[in-house]
Amino acid sequence: MAAFSRQAQSSVGLTMSSYPQRVWDNILPLSVGDTLPKAFEEWSFTEIVRDHEKPTETCELCNQESLRYQFEIRNVFTSNRLWVGSQCILRFGLSVFEAGRKLSPADAKKKLERLTEQMRLDSCIRALEKLSIAENNGMLSNALNYYKTKKYLSPKFAFVVLWRLKANAIDHSASFFKINLKREKYKDDLRAMKQGHVEMIWPALSSTQRQMALHMGHQPPN
Ligand SMILES: [Zn+2]
Repeated sequence: MAAFSRQAQSSVGLTMSSYPQRVWDNILPLSVGDTLPKAFEEWSFTEIVRDHEKPTETCELCNQESLRYQFEIRNVFTSNRLWVGSQCILRFGLSVFEAGRKLSPADAKKKLERLTEQMRLDSCIRALEKLSIAENNGMLSNALNYYKTKKYLSPKFAFVVLWRLKANAIDHSASFFKINLKREKYKDDLRAMKQGHVEMIWPALSSTQRQMALHMGHQPPN
């Protein structure tokens, strides 16, 4: 990600030949400006995002494939719209606004990351909703309500949720779920967890949490 912010900051200094031809072909016909730097100034993020659940989409600006999330940009003069990856918004310095003010490249990056985080949270909640319908189980409806308010699960809750999502073949991304290990009780629960259970929650653990699990004597999954 650091590479992108550097690119965003230096994009003004790039010569036209630095831009791939495909970017030129995609944006110039939809813009008033006749150079890429002029065209880029006309485009801003509309605050509209799409989660396609699977990495099936293409960036309409740079043609990058395998995008799961698309961000809509709009040209202020022509009203043309494109669905692009967040990285293109940052790389080409397209405008991102907050309460009518154009954000700095660093703040634009933070805003797009927050929106992606929100889409991941929404995706976890959708999976939990499907699960609580699939299994008429009080613990799973509790997990749903808990996740909606707290935005994390305890290690034990996480194990049950990920296990049942898998058992019911409900589409989900285990790595999007957040687990809380700040409370001593949660640490104790993780320490006492069986290896098979640790493997189930492993994708949802952050790198710091994985280190903690390794220190407790657990093994990473093969
Ligand atoms: Zn792109």
